[in-house]
Amino acid sequence: MNIYKFGGASVKDVAGVRNMLSIVNKNREQLIVVVSAMGKTTNAMELIMDAYFNNDRQSCMAKLAEVKDYHCTIVHELFGNANGSSRLNEQLAKLKEQLICEPSMHYDYEYDRIVSFGELMSTAIIADFFAKEQLNCKWMDIRMLLKTDSLYRDANVEWDLTQQLMQKNFTFTDVDIYLTQGFLGGTLNNMTTTLGREGSDYTAAIIGYAMGAQNVTIWKDVPGVLNADPRRYVNAQKIGELSYMEAIELTYYGAQVIHPKTLKPLQNKGIPLYVKSFVEPELPGTVIQSSKNSNSLLPVFIHKDNQVFVTVSPRDYSFIMDDRLIDVISLFRQYRIKMNLMQNSALNFSACFDKNRSTEKLFEQLNNDFFVRYNDDVELITIRNYTPETIEDVAKGRIVIDSQITRKVARFVLK
Ligand code: ADP
Ligand code: ASP
Ligand code: MG
Repeated sequence: MNIYKFGGASVKDVAGVRNMLSIVNKNREQLIVVVSAMGKTTNAMELIMDAYFNNDRQSCMAKLAEVKDYHCTIVHELFGNANGSSRLNEQLAKLKEQLICEPSMHYDYEYDRIVSFGELMSTAIIADFFAKEQLNCKWMDIRMLLKTDSLYRDANVEWDLTQQLMQKNFTFTDVDIYLTQGFLGGTLNNMTTTLGREGSDYTAAIIGYAMGAQNVTIWKDVPGVLNADPRRYVNAQKIGELSYMEAIELTYYGAQVIHPKTLKPLQNKGIPLYVKSFVEPELPGTVIQSSKNSNSLLPVFIHKDNQVFVTVSPRDYSFIMDDRLIDVISLFRQYRIKMNLMQNSALNFSACFDKNRSTEKLFEQLNNDFFVRYNDDVELITIRNYTPETIEDVAKGRIVIDSQITRKVARFVLK
């Protein structure tokens, strides 16, 4: 049994959905297909959510109309009429019903309830389309099977229960293909949760793990994992094979092509992960598995922009050791801010992290006990397998605010 995952880019329009069908058609036996929201729908759902939460009804309904139009246009082209997908109409009605109710005070809870409709709508359309194309396929509500705690927007998987439920329900007794949503989960009380932005790759890995799949394939708009983001480096080269450890390291540093949580469950069961192009599906892509042959020396570049670089030092001039460090790290945890780079000296602790809604609140708290200095809008660049030339290239003409260099990896915070 195999798991296929199709991201937003692969199903952003009618051509994408048809292409997905042709890929699925080549592997009709015992397949679980995980799909993200279409195109940039999750971003659009976040705007709907904000308008809803701020009680801006007019803007909320206007944004909802845009999302509806986008999906109905795809339905119109697939089925010959904008009402062709009854499952989509059902989801749209449920979404509208939720948006009419008053929101609670809990932003993250409401976020998961609303933003999850991106995946519910995409899989609704595709399930109806697959049925029309005579595929023996069943739509599954992943929220009933992928069980999580109630840490909304960043939920943790309840592994044992999830495995039991998936094995009980993905039986393939009367179907060849199951179609389900990426990114979503459900609490024990069946409240909707999400696994964090870009979490659909992770969903595919969770299902792969729970079902003991033969392999997991994520279909992307790139030929595989490259040694840099092709949007920045026109000459980026494909890496044919990576070990789990190498891939985990790259995703940890921020290589956006795979969600960072994806690899661990697959590594635990030795399930290979293929990253393949949905544009040229016959090409081999990249395989990630336990491997001794990978160890490529090709330099790999990972850029993270929109970073904040902060340096704190205790107001009482004590050393920044043990207790003080724990205080700082606890504050980052409290605001759920993940540090992308950390460094400390005798009196200072520095960290680089993604700019986000809680940055100011974090600084306010830190200010009580620490002097706080920060640089806004900096970039964090990681080079694996660096050379003197690659370092010179990335730092050329820029101010280096901080650097960390080990035997294999060089990291720079640049203005
Ligand atoms: P999905 O459609 O599954 O959501 P993403 O957009 O999240 O796919 O990931 C694919 C994108 O990741 C590519 O379009 C590419 O621009 C970007 N990317 C960043 N770093 C890399 C890399 N090292 N190799 C391949 N693609 C990368
Ligand atoms: N649709 C979600 C997002 O855009 C999850 C995903 O695409 O992986 O973040
Ligand atoms: Mg994505």
